[in-house]
Amino acid sequence: MARRNPSPPGTPPWNQQVGSRLMVWFGANARPLPWRGDYHPYRVWVAETMAQQTRMETLLPYYRRWMDRFPALEDVAAATQEEVLKLWEGLGYYSRARNLHKAARMMVESGGEVPDTWEGLLALPGVGPYTAGAVGSTAFNLPVPAVDGNVGRVVARLAALEEPPSGKEGKKQVAALAEGLVKAAGGRRGLSLGGPRALNQGLMELGSLICRPVHPECANCPLGLDCVAYTRGRQGDLPAAAHQPKAARVQGVMSLLGNQGRWLVRRRPAKGVWGGLWEFPWLVLEPGESVLSGYHRLLEEMGLDGGPAGFKPVGGAGYPPQNLGQVRHGLTHLHFTWDCLLGRLDETDPAVILAGEAVDGPYTARWATPDELARLPLGRPNHKALALLGQPLDVDHQGWSHHVSLMNVQAHKEPL
Ligand code: SF4
Repeated sequence: MARRNPSPPGTPPWNQQVGSRLMVWFGANARPLPWRGDYHPYRVWVAETMAQQTRMETLLPYYRRWMDRFPALEDVAAATQEEVLKLWEGLGYYSRARNLHKAARMMVESGGEVPDTWEGLLALPGVGPYTAGAVGSTAFNLPVPAVDGNVGRVVARLAALEEPPSGKEGKKQVAALAEGLVKAAGGRRGLSLGGPRALNQGLMELGSLICRPVHPECANCPLGLDCVAYTRGRQGDLPAAAHQPKAARVQGVMSLLGNQGRWLVRRRPAKGVWGGLWEFPWLVLEPGESVLSGYHRLLEEMGLDGGPAGFKPVGGAGYPPQNLGQVRHGLTHLHFTWDCLLGRLDETDPAVILAGEAVDGPYTARWATPDELARLPLGRPNHKALALLGQPLDVDHQGWSHHVSLMNVQAHKEPL
């Protein structure tokens, strides 16, 4: 491809040139996303929070449901945490939802507005430099960078950086380049083309639509003339990949315990993975421990195996647990496999509320009917476990009442 001499990346002419081309392209090619009408700060804040670690196709139905239920900041602030988590169910990284809830309450208490400064945004729970940059630039046109994975990849290719953009050195280089671009876009000429709002969103959009991780469409890219990786034919091998530690494998056992038409579930501690969500009790097997031993240890830890709560032994004569099969679920650094055991308690008063110490912290446990269960926020592995029974919860959170008969399910797998 014939090339004229481009300005070196990071210089003022390069910033102006790249910014102008990108903003013009964004103006003509931006997808009509629901928060791109009036860029209302509340809607931008929710969208940017949901967008982290989430693909747009996944995000959109969640965003629409959220706005139907919580059209304004005050509606989120007035909701319970459980309602908020239920709407977030399946989206993962639940600390985002808990922080949205906390931040909404803070904002309502201090005037009911999303802060319009970088410092004000950073002071909100769960808001780090990326979210402050994305909300600040998109909602208020502040000249602040917002570097996510897409932006890191685009900038690293534009400047042909040799360092992985997620590594320490690469992050610094990408941040400096992104800052130069957005500051230039905040100037008079840049503002006439959309300013920092169009610049940052343009980088993200380009990363999603054209400068994709594999097979970037350089021939259709508005920045082809400025891109060093493309000039050198290195767009296929840049950015360099960061070393990823291998995810550890975790073997566990999960108990689906039924009694008198109800299921035993417990709420996880407020912080950490699946924080604040409900789940079927489970634990991690010790090295060499059998599934059945782990199951009894779990019941014992919950005071259910002849323990202090006074329940009769579970899984003893007459009530052997049934192995329904395995559920697998991967997090960033952990790959879980649970054997799911269906058990039944010999106990006539299911209304009892249990509280106890379990494997990794204090839990609150309760019995829930299928209808109640359908209203509780559950982590995805629990939906997978329910699917083993042949009765998955509807992902749209619609009624589950016709599945009440679930509790009468006859174990259909071999006893252990
Ligand atoms: S020219 Fe290719 S590698 Fe460079 S920014 Fe555009 S799509 Fe990405």
